[in-house]
Amino acid sequence: MSETNDLYQEVILDHYKRPRNHGRLGDADCHAEGQNPLCGDHVTVYVKVKGGIVEEITFEGSGCAISTASASLMTETIKGKTLDEAKAFFRKFHAMVTGDEEVDGGDGLGKLTVFAGVCQYPARVKCATLVWHTLDAALDNRREPISTE
Ligand code: ZN
Repeated sequence: MSETNDLYQEVILDHYKRPRNHGRLGDADCHAEGQNPLCGDHVTVYVKVKGGIVEEITFEGSGCAISTASASLMTETIKGKTLDEAKAFFRKFHAMVTGDEEVDGGDGLGKLTVFAGVCQYPARVKCATLVWHTLDAALDNRREPISTE
């Protein structure tokens, strides 16, 4: 089990140090801003949608290792997916990190399962889900910045 944890740690640290899809997307169709005051995480998500598919997705902001790695892995996962698939990933991811057993959270999440252990640390759940709530707001074109508090 600890070997698995080490592997997860490695993936999270890798994405924290070298975040993928990081930066502002100039011609984004929608974007949203989110913050987690408890930890100081701040993120903006930019999305370009074409024909119901997430064609481009980037993020910028600053935060802890968990929130940054979560944002990086989220953009990798969602790029090329349909809007419905993006929403489904959000639901599954949320269920996994909150330990909601009603939904089979880990199913089909691929790399995102590195965050499965987060459900043991309630304060960290907000770090991991912040970017997903922000993505959800961007796709719904909500103007108000979202906050986990
Ligand atoms: Zn955080």
